[in-house]
Amino acid sequence: MTNKHYDYFVIGAGSGGVRSARIAAGYAAKVGIAEKSALGGTCVNLGCIPKKLFAYASDYAGHFEDARGFGWDTPEQIRFNWQTLINNKNNEISRLNGIYKKLLENAGADILKGEARFIDDHKLDVGGHQVSADKILIAVGGRPRLPEIEGGELMATSDDVFFWPKKPEKVVIQGGGYIAVEFAHILHGIGAHVTLLYRGDLFLRGFDRDIARSLADEMTEQGVDLRFNCDIERVERKDEDRFIVHTTTNEALECDMPLAAIGRVPNVEPLALENTGVDLCVGGRIAIDENYQTSAPHIYALGDVANNHNLTPVAVQEGHVLADRLFGGMGARSVNYDNIATAVFSSPPIGTVGLSEEDALDHGHKIDVYVSSFKPMKHQLTGRDERSFLKMIVDQDSDRVLGLHMMGLDAPEIIQGFAMAINMGATKTDFDRTMAIHPTSAEEFVLMRTKRD
Ligand code: FAD
Ligand code: NDP
Repeated sequence: MTNKHYDYFVIGAGSGGVRSARIAAGYAAKVGIAEKSALGGTCVNLGCIPKKLFAYASDYAGHFEDARGFGWDTPEQIRFNWQTLINNKNNEISRLNGIYKKLLENAGADILKGEARFIDDHKLDVGGHQVSADKILIAVGGRPRLPEIEGGELMATSDDVFFWPKKPEKVVIQGGGYIAVEFAHILHGIGAHVTLLYRGDLFLRGFDRDIARSLADEMTEQGVDLRFNCDIERVERKDEDRFIVHTTTNEALECDMPLAAIGRVPNVEPLALENTGVDLCVGGRIAIDENYQTSAPHIYALGDVANNHNLTPVAVQEGHVLADRLFGGMGARSVNYDNIATAVFSSPPIGTVGLSEEDALDHGHKIDVYVSSFKPMKHQLTGRDERSFLKMIVDQDSDRVLGLHMMGLDAPEIIQGFAMAINMGATKTDFDRTMAIHPTSAEEFVLMRTKRD
């Protein structure tokens, strides 16, 4: 049994943990990092990366159809091979796992494979090896939540989709957040019949309502069966790989994949936090202050296990800033949580930064709203009846652009660029004096002249 002592020991080699370990090691701290599964964490193995690869796969279905309008003679019957997608995705992820290993090794961090568990405030057991550290970072992320209903344990989660043995044919999704919407797109695109059940009036709560409504219209037009004000009551197994989902509206929906997408829970239980002075807050997340410090002053926590942002760039920035503060002498460095841009990789995708119309009004702003809805030039030839929708929220008093929202082709790429302008405090006048790039969809944002009534 080894008993190594570190300056900094990181639990969890995901988005936040890897960055923090690397940066700290770069400051010559003696760093160890424990990982119980694959290097790279949720984003690399079960989140952003495989999800985006699957979304690309799904997008192709439309591309083949659309190409005909531009003169391409694509076959009527296009075949899709689920196993090829899974194999190629697995290979890509293995490549990324290797890159993460090299990054950590080159930085000089020790990688310990195994589940970490606290023995006391400074000591940990990692797969039978005991280690101790002056400072410890908990960056263990979260896992999907299953509903507490009869048969809830039969439901698949996003983790399972990435390894599903054969192409799903009929899917019933529970939830109306990022994962429900993105997986509805993925599974519909590859040819499954998708029903999405959301308990509220309109999915994507927290997103601008016009944007969510526009996406709901597009998804319905494409043939995704959206049921709002409807939830799953119980799930039963019909046979080996068929299930019956009973809804709160008294329907029985048969499917081969009942998919729960109802949020995630922090991975705290195996840590044995009862052996430390680390407190949890409501919802089971680890309670931290603005320095990522837990109630045990030398133990820190960040990323999904500690906050509500649940986004990779947030976890990465937090890990970086914490290492800078603890080992780089940059005590004042902080993460900017203002105007966090985000995307939903649906079809069409959504990109958004800043306040929604509803949030702006709730915050007491007097606002002007500009909207633009149009059929993108590409679809004039494809014949696809798909629209793009753009929205800008402007503060009447300061002229500042408070929020930019887009549903349409390339929306995430477009909004990433504008996010910096919003963070710099760009005004509507700044947008108006910016020359357009023509012909693009993004140019609409600098050409909006008419306020919505
Ligand atoms: P994680 O990346 O989850 O890393 C935690 C690591 O700790 C894991 O590797 C885990 O195995 C390990 N671990 C847990 N317990 C222990 C233990 N006791 N001992 C040792 N190791 C342990 N975000 C985006 O910004 N864009 C996206 O497009 C996006 N898509 C997503 C799609 C899906 C399907 C999901 C599920 C998430 C997505 N996210 C996306 C969110 C993003 O993946 C997370 O916010 C991010 O990974 C959080 O990073 P983290 O460092 O907090 O934790
Ligand atoms: P979200 O928190 O985004 O959404 C959960 C959804 O499930 C909501 O619609 C919620 O409804 C509903 N819900 C919650 N509890 C229940 C319940 N008991 N019964 C029925 N419905 C329920 O979680 P996701 O699982 O979609 O994603 C987890 C996180 O991962 C996201 O919040 C996001 O931060 C991150 N992520 C980011 C992505 C990206 O950046 N593109 C992609 C995927 C994930 P209600 O709104 O009414 O509460």
